Amino acid sequence: MQTQIPAALADDPRVIEIEAILRKCVHCGMCLATCPTYTLLGDELDSPRGRIYQIKQVVEGHAPTADTLEHLDRCLTCRNCETTCPSGVKYGHLIDAGRSIVEERVARPLVQRLMRRALLTVLPYPGRVGPLVRMGQSVRGLLPAALRGSVPVRQRPGDWPAARHARRLVVLEGCVQPAMTPATNAAAARVLDACGVSLVRVAGAGCCGAVPYHLNEQEDALDHMRRNIDAWWPLVQGEGGAGEDGAGEGGADEAEPAFGVLATASGCGVMLKEYGHALAADPDYADKAVRLSALSMDTVEAVRAALDGLDEDALERLRARAAAVGRVAFHPPCTLQHGQRLAGVTEALLRRLGFSLTKVRDSHLCCGSAGTYSIFQPDIARQLRDNKVAAIESGEPDIVATANIGCQLHIGQGLEASGGKAVAHWIELVDRVMGSGTTR
Ligand code: SF4
Ligand code: SF4
Repeated sequence: MQTQIPAALADDPRVIEIEAILRKCVHCGMCLATCPTYTLLGDELDSPRGRIYQIKQVVEGHAPTADTLEHLDRCLTCRNCETTCPSGVKYGHLIDAGRSIVEERVARPLVQRLMRRALLTVLPYPGRVGPLVRMGQSVRGLLPAALRGSVPVRQRPGDWPAARHARRLVVLEGCVQPAMTPATNAAAARVLDACGVSLVRVAGAGCCGAVPYHLNEQEDALDHMRRNIDAWWPLVQGEGGAGEDGAGEGGADEAEPAFGVLATASGCGVMLKEYGHALAADPDYADKAVRLSALSMDTVEAVRAALDGLDEDALERLRARAAAVGRVAFHPPCTLQHGQRLAGVTEALLRRLGFSLTKVRDSHLCCGSAGTYSIFQPDIARQLRDNKVAAIESGEPDIVATANIGCQLHIGQGLEASGGKAVAHWIELVDRVMGSGTTR
């Protein structure tokens, strides 16, 4: 795609990045068929190619309008189009940079600005989210059905094993996950511990930065990233550190440098893998960010490697227990299959462990959660969720599992509304068949 960038914009680093990405797009339109918003709305302006064209116009000097902002806002950033594109167009980077420019030039309505500010003030901070979630859980039974689904049932996470192994992984604890689904990280810690890897928590780390990043508060997001890098750096360098569970000081006698940073929420994982890109212009953090991105891994990457430490007899025992769990419907989050390019990997691991998976049609499509998308685009988010719930239920599963807290809560809401079952992170199922789980 040819562009004509006016001199006044030519030095903006976002425009330079956009222009380089635009050059790869050949207008073929293959991405349209897999775009959830185009499929639902049927408007080319709500398709990847249409959004690419609107961003092109903006960097060529045309003034964006409220409609431009709306079409970009309706994008889920699911990156399904990126997986489909035969030309390697990096749509995720394009939409982030495009939104950043459009947002500077088009004022949002006051209510939207206030809502975004409220979310930015609360969500990235576990100390603020926790009390609100606990308050909601204490009156959950009294809430109307429509509201009840948005408050997750309180989980008992169970024990977190002491850091006894030399091989260690740092875990990203995140912002809303400790309050809403604390069983996930605890289950991952027990499964990895059983495979000879200690999962360690580090004081001072927090939100991965995805919440402010996708609400277009880039500087705020970069601060979260820098803080995490500062907190994790001593452990990945093998210099010890102030782990909450004594990871850096009183853990294993001969602990090695942590060999990775684990995100159990695939939405956070994809953000960690973008640290190198996001902090590329920061001379103090660019190199460290590239290293952190290279070290970051999703749960499935860590568990797949760690299982090699189990002997065949142990795996056979797991398979026998997994077969008794029943039929599992697995929903692969977009951040896992399109963002991290790990399509099919979790499903293969679960099958290797003996779980029986149901077929979920259109599993490449977004469930509509997409971070804060379901708050700002509730109608589209609900339609996508209802489609996903119908696809899941058609396989008549006994259990539903996924790999990202956003999808877990959003699909859980849909299943609860239809009188169905709860949704778990898949690592909880593995924890359960390993026998260490206390989450159910
Ligand atoms: S990221 Fe998803 S919603 Fe956005 S244009 Fe691509 S496929 Fe469509
Ligand atoms: S599939 Fe790729 S090259 Fe084709 S229109 Fe979409 S983004 Fe452009």
